[in-house]
Amino acid sequence: MANDVWVYIEHKEGAVTPMSFELLGIGKTLADGFGSNLCAFVVGEGIDAIAKEAGTYGASKVFAVDAGVFKGFRADAYAKATAFLFDKYKPEVALFRATSQGTDIAAAAAAQLGSGICSDAIGLAVDGGKLKMTKAAFGGNYTVTVVNEKSQPQIATVRPKAFAMPEQDASKSAEVVKESFVVDEASLNTKVLEFIKSAVAINLVEADIIVSGGRGLGNAEGFDLLKELAEVIGGGVGASRAAVDSGWITVDQQVGQTGKTVKPKIYIACGISGAIQHLAGMRTSDCIVAINKDPDAPIFKAATFGIVGDYKQVVPKLIEKFKGKLGK
Ligand SMILES: Cc1cc2nc3c(=O)[nH]c(=O)nc-3n(C[C@H](O)[C@H](O)[C@H](O)COP(=O)(O)OP(=O)(O)OC[C@H]3O[C@@H](n4cnc5c(N)ncnc54)[C@H](O)[C@@H]3O)c2cc1C
Repeated sequence: MANDVWVYIEHKEGAVTPMSFELLGIGKTLADGFGSNLCAFVVGEGIDAIAKEAGTYGASKVFAVDAGVFKGFRADAYAKATAFLFDKYKPEVALFRATSQGTDIAAAAAAQLGSGICSDAIGLAVDGGKLKMTKAAFGGNYTVTVVNEKSQPQIATVRPKAFAMPEQDASKSAEVVKESFVVDEASLNTKVLEFIKSAVAINLVEADIIVSGGRGLGNAEGFDLLKELAEVIGGGVGASRAAVDSGWITVDQQVGQTGKTVKPKIYIACGISGAIQHLAGMRTSDCIVAINKDPDAPIFKAATFGIVGDYKQVVPKLIEKFKGKLGK
């Protein structure tokens, strides 16, 4: 229906997390702004339960494309299903989480439809019947607000945790509209041979606590200490690009402009100087704790709390204190 706001519900082979529904909160605010409906859509195989659950987070209608060819995520297949839905129902706005899955589909679907896209939005508002999309620019030093004047839908990928999670209400339900769209396997460019689970135990984008290390750790063994601290306080381990480039830690743990954008409740930066490209990925964390032996390190300007000292002395003390406090 014209003016409706659509939210893509991501999943991994049928498994969702509550975060999969996060954009239904801001989606409802936008739909109210347009005086329209909040709809969700999901693509996959065996996705009835996901479609139903979207209703409990506020969607009034859920469009489901369910077929064997959509088992396992493939950007080209999912984008074709998405473009089909957009073409048929002409939503005003389509929101995707700015995860690797959301970004892949949104960009490919926008290209197929010749629509514009705003990537990694951190602000969304309805103004004069248009969606205003705000995003960070120049390493997070500026924000820009963009409007898609000419094409529909107005597509945005949205930074995870930029908006509050909606409350789940088990008494709410949505009308589920099943679409019998299939893609011919021969028309797809990709085939999934195997999914290899990341060795990173905690997904940094969704983590509430992150302990990150930089070049100041001096070697890969420094990360063993950070892993111990992260385990004690229930966090994940992140890194600066310098640490990744040194081969001390894998690239999927890099935080920053060319790594992951994170927004944990607590971000502990050890031996990280605070280069603008690193700050771009973590400066919106609720509480930043910097541990650095240089009192003039720029990271202290972004930090909520600063500890000037050698991480080799500071981190073991933190581990000991937290173990005592948490009874571990
Ligand atoms: C296009 C582009 C994209 C980039 N993308 C990213 C990105 O996504 N993420 C990213 O992180 N970087 C990125 N960078 C690199 C970025 O510019 C910095 O080079 C990098 O962040 C520096 O990493 P660092 O802070 O670990 O190292 P350094 O800048 O070398 O800082 C090391 C810090 O450790 C401190 N230190 C040393 N020894 C100790 C000790 N024993 N105890 C405590 N502190 C100690 C030092 O005082 C220093 O402050 C990018 C650069 C470019 C050009």
